[in-house]
Amino acid sequence: VPAAFRVAIVGAGFSGSALAMQLLKRPGVDIILIEKSGVFGRGLAYGTTCPAHLLNVRSGNMSLFPSDGGHFIRWLAARGHDPDPEGYAPRALYGAYLQDSLAEAEAAAPERLHRVSRGAVAIEPTTGGVVVRLEDGSRVEADAAVLATGNLPPVDPARGLQRLGDRYLPDPWAERALSRIGDDDPVALIGSGLTTIDVVLALVHRGWRGRAVALSRRGLLPRPHARVRKPALGALPPEQRPSELLRMIRRRAKDTSWVEVMDQLRLHGQALWLRADAAERGRFLRHGRAWWDVHRHRTAPDVGETIERLEREGRLTVAAGRIASFDRTAEGVALVYRPRGAAEPARLEAAAVINCTGPAFDLTQAVDPLLRDLFARGAARPDPLRCSLDVDEHGRVLDLAGVAQPRLFALGPLTRGRLWEIVAVPDIRLQVSAMTDMLHEEARAEDQRRQGALDSLFLRHPRAVGETYGQHMKVAFGVGAQLTLAGLACFAHGLVPAAFEKTGSNAIKRLHHRLFGRHAGLTLTGRDGDAI
Ligand SMILES: Cc1cc2nc3c(=O)[nH]c(=O)nc-3n(C[C@H](O)[C@H](O)[C@H](O)COP(=O)(O)OP(=O)(O)OC[C@H]3O[C@@H](n4cnc5c(N)ncnc54)[C@H](O)[C@@H]3O)c2cc1C
Repeated sequence: VPAAFRVAIVGAGFSGSALAMQLLKRPGVDIILIEKSGVFGRGLAYGTTCPAHLLNVRSGNMSLFPSDGGHFIRWLAARGHDPDPEGYAPRALYGAYLQDSLAEAEAAAPERLHRVSRGAVAIEPTTGGVVVRLEDGSRVEADAAVLATGNLPPVDPARGLQRLGDRYLPDPWAERALSRIGDDDPVALIGSGLTTIDVVLALVHRGWRGRAVALSRRGLLPRPHARVRKPALGALPPEQRPSELLRMIRRRAKDTSWVEVMDQLRLHGQALWLRADAAERGRFLRHGRAWWDVHRHRTAPDVGETIERLEREGRLTVAAGRIASFDRTAEGVALVYRPRGAAEPARLEAAAVINCTGPAFDLTQAVDPLLRDLFARGAARPDPLRCSLDVDEHGRVLDLAGVAQPRLFALGPLTRGRLWEIVAVPDIRLQVSAMTDMLHEEARAEDQRRQGALDSLFLRHPRAVGETYGQHMKVAFGVGAQLTLAGLACFAHGLVPAAFEKTGSNAIKRLHHRLFGRHAGLTLTGRDGDAI
């Protein structure tokens, strides 16, 4: 029986875990799930333990499986949580759902999933497969590897911030990062997106009573979801040119509301992105992305209300501007920034500066040894916008020359440059399904190839002579034994001609008759005319 097709998945956040679960439903594929944190099934988004961090997508749209939309809701109900499909469950609960579902899939096929709690540092192609090298020097051999390393760690928004020492928190997601903030401390938050909201909610949940200023270039906060969804509008015709589409969006947003227009646009996000050329994509990033992000990646209504209340109470202020300088003071930090559109700089004092710019966007800044190794060896290249790996339409990673690596794939936010709308669960799960189909197909083709190779090694010849493998082995071993004995007799006959005079020739006659006479119906005649 040929060995199962082995898929090494690097990263066990949502993307890697979802792929492992879907592949486990297909026979003939073994999975090696490699996760550097040792925590499987949570990743950055669902690793939070703060109950104030809610999903930003309705629970009814967060099932792991596109073909079973009610899966998450049923899980919530079975565990005694609110199963409202229109609600926004805590992200920690969603992480528990991912872990439970992975454990359940594993229990159904324990021998097919191998968890490896180590970081991957290199992936090298081999003949017909890949080798994944791990941080402890060990290696995993597989037929294919899928990169699902997801969100990059944040990078400093200004050079020199590290000079602020313990007054600067470079990564708010790091364990116990926020424990350094005192209950009444004023804080300066760099960024005003979803990470800023996460940090404010975590501080408030902990009992913090201080004030926060969130500084970002445009000073835009993510919008909240509407509590009640309105019926969908007629579809937008996405085949229009971007400029015409933008005009239509503005008109429709005036006539109805931007929420409905965004929801419609979202359905065409990937198609629009795929149609745009490099220049249009670049323009979108420069001028549209900040606006897109705050309207597209909205917060749960409850979160929106908390943020609005904090703004009303003067505890959260959002400022638009760029950092100009910063210094450590006796109380903490003094930060000078240039407000957007104003000539005069502004100054703010805080006990600490927290980097809330979120996962790094530029992949070339990644410090992850695996990505660095792939780039250094030319086995992968960043997409033209440098926000992800360059991949083909099947998710195959393109090497430096733009050639698709046959057995190296990428998934989730790591493919954002190609698809853009591939960050949220409803989009990633569809990509996971397509990749599952493709890997399963690869596994079947490989299985046939291996079967074919085994077939020609072991079965083709016995079948050609009308025997099974066992029957053929018995005949061949018998012939071998007779030839060996006859050979020994011939040696002895050579030494002592009187001994074994006819043993060799008789053995040959017998074997010839047995091997050919029977099959071909031949009767051979010896030199003296006797029938053999
Ligand atoms: C804070 C936050 C909240 C979000 N909330 C929502 C939401 O409510 N709804 C929604 O639909 N989407 C949400 N998203 C979108 C989110 O990006 C995806 O849902 C999902 O987290 C992407 O999963 P991933 O597995 O690709 O990446 P990640 O979650 O980043 O997981 C990657 C995993 O790979 C591991 N890893 C990295 N490098 C290596 C290596 N070299 N070797 C081994 N392991 C490695 C990491 O430790 C990590 O566990 C949110 C995103 C963030 C950041």
